[in-house]
Amino acid sequence: MTASWLSRAPCDGLDGFTPSEDAWETAGDLKRLCGSRLGYCKPCPFRAECIAVVKPAQAMFDGVAGGRVWCNGLVIDALDDVSDDELAEPKLRATCGTEAGARDHNRYGERPCTSCRQVARQVAARRRKERAKQPTQMQLDIPSVA
Ligand code: SF4
Ligand SMILES: [Zn+2]
Repeated sequence: MTASWLSRAPCDGLDGFTPSEDAWETAGDLKRLCGSRLGYCKPCPFRAECIAVVKPAQAMFDGVAGGRVWCNGLVIDALDDVSDDELAEPKLRATCGTEAGARDHNRYGERPCTSCRQVARQVAARRRKERAKQPTQMQLDIPSVA
């Protein structure tokens, strides 16, 4: 998280909000490991911003964000005053300079950025090459011998 409000959030500089994957197995473990961090979210005025940045559902996030404990992108615990209004997540975008990034520009009706245009050219060239390698089906007209 690099958003400017983060330095004013109660969790700034603290850890334990996202336990490492090998430290837990079940949702119960996760809750035990980081559930106490929910206390920091209680007075936090940035819960909606936090969820918008972390995108826990789309990112299948494990840990504490926005006043909830998430496991595989699902809420497994929450403060008692959370509101559904805080749950809006902007769409996850694929990284530019990858095939998925180029597809995302198309999907959102945008003009692709330079690195995605380059990837799209490389993909098109690769496809042309693959097509050229494929054997063409020959239609042979063999005259029948009477
Ligand atoms: S909602 Fe919780 S995890 Fe998110 S910024 Fe606030 S204190 Fe940190
Ligand atoms: Zn791009």
